[in-house]
Amino acid sequence: MINFERFSNIFDLTDYFDSEAKCRKAIFDSRWNKKDVVCPFCGQHHCVSRTDGRFHCPGCKANFSVLVGTIFENTKISLRKWFIAMYLISSHKKGISSCQLARDIHVTQKTAWYILHKVRTLYRQYDDVALEGEVEVDEMYLGGRETNKHESKKTLGTQGRSTKTKAPIFGMVARYGEARALVVPDTRAVTLLPIIKQFVADNTHIFTDELSAYSNLEEEGYGHSVIRHGLREYSKAGVTTNTIEGFWAHFKRCIFGTYHFVSKVYLQRYVDESIYRYNTRRMGESGRFSYMFKKAMGTCYYSDVRIMA
Ligand SMILES: [Zn+2]
Repeated sequence: MINFERFSNIFDLTDYFDSEAKCRKAIFDSRWNKKDVVCPFCGQHHCVSRTDGRFHCPGCKANFSVLVGTIFENTKISLRKWFIAMYLISSHKKGISSCQLARDIHVTQKTAWYILHKVRTLYRQYDDVALEGEVEVDEMYLGGRETNKHESKKTLGTQGRSTKTKAPIFGMVARYGEARALVVPDTRAVTLLPIIKQFVADNTHIFTDELSAYSNLEEEGYGHSVIRHGLREYSKAGVTTNTIEGFWAHFKRCIFGTYHFVSKVYLQRYVDESIYRYNTRRMGESGRFSYMFKKAMGTCYYSDVRIMA
């Protein structure tokens, strides 16, 4: 198995992965522990090596390379560039733009955009580990303030929490733990409560602001404390939503500082990326790279990357 701890900086990474063969071997070792090659099409174990470097499945008779079934399948970009890109993406705390990545690994901006979005599909959030303990939930609206826009670009009746020009995002953060966030169509109870039930463990104590959507949390079996921002209360005897406010602040810095503009169609991807950065914030550079590398062993097709609006 490859020892990821050795990659504490990009110099060590490029020094180690000095050829495509080394990159392929790293993928082989990560996918097929103990050299048992498993067919990506039918799941048959103990597939055999061919003389051309590929593998043959005795079950379904398919031939396949070590890249089939990973995010590198069918790629025309060298694996060395992929690995450096993944390292840069995972270690930049506020993300990296496609223009910057294009310059760093010497590819076109279009190729860098594609790599970035392919990597973002690895950030998908799952509900397999529920948030528990003390959980803060909150909603935010992404989109410019109407008062700051030119007259010709203003939309009537869209101040404050309107969703006509702004995208609502719903977030949940376990204090001292992980976070989850989703782009939602609105912030009504009928939308938010099922999400809370999906991601937050039963009997958890939840902290919220005074939004009416949260008023039935106790009936759903949760403990519930409210901090009244309307009364200019922000922290009162441990009741606060400052942890999730901190997450939103980081999210906004990534969006406005690095990406400047984010299409609504791809917004969930950027939210996923922020969540990934938040949840891996205590890992070192090598830990984050290792985490991403292992996720990259899963398949990702062009249709997973390109969302049709
Ligand atoms: Zn097979």
